[in-house]
Amino acid sequence: MSTQQVLDWLTENETQSIERFIQWLKIPSIGTDPKHDPDTAKAAQWAADHLKESGFSVELKSTGTKDNPGQPIVLATSPGDDDYTGPHVLFYGHYDVQPVDPVELWDSPPFEPTHLPADDHAGERIVARGACDDKGQVLMFLEAMRGWHQTTGKPGGGVRYTILLEGEEESGSVNLEQFVDDHKDTLSKADVCLISDTGMLGRGKPAITYGVRGLAYIEVTLIGPDQDLHSGLWGGKVPNPINELTKVLAQLWDQDRRVTIPNFYDGVRELTAAERQAWQELGVDPVAALKGIGLPPEANIGEKGFNSIEREWARPTCDINGIIGGYTGPGAKTVIASKASAKLSFRLVDDQDSEKIAAAAIQWFKDRTPPGCTWEFENHGGGAPATCATESTPLQAAFRAIERACGIKPAMIKSGGSIPVAGLLKTTIGLETIFMGFGLEDDRVHSPNEKFELDCFRMGAKSHAALVEELTNSTSD
Ligand SMILES: [Zn+2]
Repeated sequence: MSTQQVLDWLTENETQSIERFIQWLKIPSIGTDPKHDPDTAKAAQWAADHLKESGFSVELKSTGTKDNPGQPIVLATSPGDDDYTGPHVLFYGHYDVQPVDPVELWDSPPFEPTHLPADDHAGERIVARGACDDKGQVLMFLEAMRGWHQTTGKPGGGVRYTILLEGEEESGSVNLEQFVDDHKDTLSKADVCLISDTGMLGRGKPAITYGVRGLAYIEVTLIGPDQDLHSGLWGGKVPNPINELTKVLAQLWDQDRRVTIPNFYDGVRELTAAERQAWQELGVDPVAALKGIGLPPEANIGEKGFNSIEREWARPTCDINGIIGGYTGPGAKTVIASKASAKLSFRLVDDQDSEKIAAAAIQWFKDRTPPGCTWEFENHGGGAPATCATESTPLQAAFRAIERACGIKPAMIKSGGSIPVAGLLKTTIGLETIFMGFGLEDDRVHSPNEKFELDCFRMGAKSHAALVEELTNSTSD
């Protein structure tokens, strides 16, 4: 078929692709800052125009309510009813970017994209806010679509796509769930979701991320006396909420560093021998990673029976993310604070249920109420984990596409992080998600001097282009 023509088109038109990249990056689409609302609208329109030029039917959909409007969503679909082959793909990405502070730490202005040659620090790259997260990664897909349309005249090269680009990913996707609900009919026609917002295993080592973890997040407050007390007059006579809270918190793990909340591990998929073997063969070095954060090899600790990568990709965790209470000013103050609180998060794996975990955790605290004290709880929400079956037709197609485009078999990896949209699509419309991302660990996403390397851009654009033919050749049963 025409994949080679599209790959050639991408090479021949690279200068124009990079010019388009720079144009898009110049638009300061900081979705969380209302001051930038005209910019987010402009960035959305820019993407909509790009997709229109590639033959898609495109709409800009408003989100939120009249009183509290959200950022627009770009929704593009393949025109017409028939004449498409292979699985129907929902491509998800986001055009909003993180704020730029601290701006003084940028070597060049965040919205004046800078094209730098390869040097000791990194490869040839574009430095700007959003370069990697997620405009660069989305543009790989957009340019592949442009290439197919230019060379064959067919939108999406004959594969049916629905494309959803949101403008609130960096601020919690607050209107996405409602949007998915309102557009269930359109979105649920897709067979699989495709996202480019993840990383590779390393430079020149492309990867498919076939699973991300979910999240539950609660805050607990232990309340004792109705006022702060003098520790000389009251110490040893009454419950000190900080003492009592920390004693309870310390019971969250057993000797084997397993979480002690009843039913916490319900539904956790057991690792297969084949998966363990495959992960072992990736050659990820936990000691080097520890060294990179200033820790010695003996710091390689966690749930008994699992190695470092297994604990990150296949096991749930519980972490205290903050403890608040008592006197924290300079010097000494002998006070017993009237209350103390802690923020706790749980990273979850398939098939744990975020809401059930939060409820079980709250019950666990209630069962350990210190004498005379009371609890207050807040559920900060969470999201479902999402794992795509490695033998699924679209995932196998993505595997072959990357191998063809990059000349190397992609590593099959998971991520310990959470990408809530994947869990949302799984729970609301039953879609599995394939993450085909080309970021590098040192791309400084969310930080000053964010960059995207052109080698990564090339690999990604070519992989998305090759995926079209692989999907066309695959059957989606
Ligand atoms: Zn981000």
